[in-house]
Amino acid sequence: MAKRNPSYDFKWCPGCGDFGVKRAIEMALTARASEKQEPIENSVIVAGIGCSGNLVHLQEGPQPFGIHGIHGRTLPIAYGTKSANPDLNVLVVTGDGDFLSIGGEHIAPQARRNLDITVVVMDNGIYGLTKGQASPTTDLDEVTPTTKYGKLDDRMNPLMVYLGGGARFVISELSTRIRPLQQAIEDAMNYPGFSIVHVQSPCTTYNDTYAALKGDEENGIKPLAQPISDNHDASDYFQALALAAQPGVPVGVLYRADDTVPAHDRLTEAKQEAGIADTDIEKLFDGMVI
Ligand code: SF4
Repeated sequence: MAKRNPSYDFKWCPGCGDFGVKRAIEMALTARASEKQEPIENSVIVAGIGCSGNLVHLQEGPQPFGIHGIHGRTLPIAYGTKSANPDLNVLVVTGDGDFLSIGGEHIAPQARRNLDITVVVMDNGIYGLTKGQASPTTDLDEVTPTTKYGKLDDRMNPLMVYLGGGARFVISELSTRIRPLQQAIEDAMNYPGFSIVHVQSPCTTYNDTYAALKGDEENGIKPLAQPISDNHDASDYFQALALAAQPGVPVGVLYRADDTVPAHDRLTEAKQEAGIADTDIEKLFDGMVI
């Protein structure tokens, strides 16, 4: 049985967006277990380092298995977990610093491989756990402890990175929309391939973006977050790229490729063709880039 560690007492700050993401994940995992008639231990949460990574210890109710890994290496750990047992439902939880900075090099290889996992990225545009340094999604000119005279490099557009890297299912959501976020995570877990749910999850202590995301229409302030139009064709890669390139935060499904063959099916097919046994690990991974 997976068990919650009672001695782990990490606490998020009041109002942190990660609370909403945690609730959505709890509901999505419970709904999945019920729908598929499988134990919740069939799911494994692989966490990165940062405030978001502590989510793995804070799940309430029935506990999935959890791995709190090393900085930026959620994808290699998820790759090993899923390769060892393709029947597991593997969910990565990570933040913009962990996933897009030190972990950034792993995104494209796993996306192109179409590793059948779901990644939930909690983006607060800052390194919260280590007290507010600039992350890849911090805005240009932003003053932080590591950018005392303003950040010199442009803000990364993570949605463009995912699409450019070859991710097959990309959703953009907000931590405040718990029910739609639950549904997005469920859909992503059901998708047979590499899926990313990128969530704007404000850091109330170092980078509170709630007001900017919501806007203030009465005072002429447009919300940063805008629902994706019903006219958007999520199966069209170039429409998805064009939408991701626009300023602001689109909310909904950007891209969903239907012609998807997950990594483990490709591998099984290749092994059968080559006559390689499951136990011949060296031959199996010969030449593969993690
Ligand atoms: Fe959340 Fe920011 Fe506090 Fe970390 S520092 S728990 S991201 S509000």
